[in-house]
Amino acid sequence: MSKKYTLLKKDGKARRGQFETPHGTIQTPVFMNVGTLAAIKGAVSSMDLKEIRCQVELSNTYHLHLRPSDKVVKKLGGLHQFMNWDRPILTDSGGFQVFSLAKMRKIKEEGVYFNSHIDGKKIFMGPEESMQIQSNLASTIAMAFDECIENPAPREYVERSVERTTRWLERCKTEMDRLNSMPDTINKEQMLFGINQGGVYEDIRIRHAKEITKMDLDGYAIGGLAVGETHEEMYKVIDAVVPHLPEDKPIYLMGVGTPSNILEAVDRGVDFFDCVLPARNGRHGNVFFSEGKLNLMNAKYELDNRPIDEGCECPTCKNYTRAYIRHLFKAKEMLAMRLCVLHNLYFYNKLMEDIRDAIEGGCFKQFKEEKLAQWEGR
Ligand SMILES: [Zn+2]
Repeated sequence: MSKKYTLLKKDGKARRGQFETPHGTIQTPVFMNVGTLAAIKGAVSSMDLKEIRCQVELSNTYHLHLRPSDKVVKKLGGLHQFMNWDRPILTDSGGFQVFSLAKMRKIKEEGVYFNSHIDGKKIFMGPEESMQIQSNLASTIAMAFDECIENPAPREYVERSVERTTRWLERCKTEMDRLNSMPDTINKEQMLFGINQGGVYEDIRIRHAKEITKMDLDGYAIGGLAVGETHEEMYKVIDAVVPHLPEDKPIYLMGVGTPSNILEAVDRGVDFFDCVLPARNGRHGNVFFSEGKLNLMNAKYELDNRPIDEGCECPTCKNYTRAYIRHLFKAKEMLAMRLCVLHNLYFYNKLMEDIRDAIEGGCFKQFKEEKLAQWEGR
């Protein structure tokens, strides 16, 4: 297998790298912008994503399987063509949604039986089905189908679940290889990331990391975090797992998180991130800025003629004031959400650029401390 991840520079444990994909090179560390249903919630288009310098879009297997269905997307040429986005796309496996959204689920060795959260229809999804759906979507990177365990969970349950997740990963790999060799597959170079699980039990996490490393996948994710444990527990797990994952593959921390979480995880060797937080916060008028967070609904912004963030180069800050956006929220104009989501996603993408520069310059620790102090108003 040709080399896809190149480690360009290490600063402490923080990694500055490059990941080659069939849809272009990803500069890491990277934040993936979450477009669950092939669109960023808040009326942000793929054209907007280019303007706010998004590198990777993330879409959701479970949701797209239900609506419009992966078969429809395949007929329309795959996700890239469907949503008019020519850069990398990562699709999650559907596992997290099956375990968090679906009703009446039954986990068996072959996979999970559950009812659709939309119309209650009975559905089965196992490793093979997840790979088939993601192959139909033709994303750049597919995620392995795993069980996402809630925290806290009893040790015996976690142990049995992780063993099954390993067996599922082997099946994912076999099925992905088969699909990539089929003549009518849209993306025959689809990549597969495995997912480390094990709750907050470090020994189970480490054992699992070693097992999945043997499978020589394109990348590795740390899953099952940010689901109920404390930040300190999360950082302990990352500290324990990262040294047992291969250095020549990217590491993805799933579903994380706040700007501070991202800095802490980069400092522990993580390369890929995704989170609904910037878009979700933006839709409620909560915006990130150089001194932390502010809420535009607050009365004190009624006459505030400054942009959200004075130094920000995003399309929102270059053109509109806090007072105007506050008015749009009060008047329930859709534009309010759009402008705030654009700003928040730009803030995240720019943060990652600054992180990459700091690692290249060998001053990441200092950069991290300065940012944390600024955001916490120290
Ligand atoms: Zn801005």
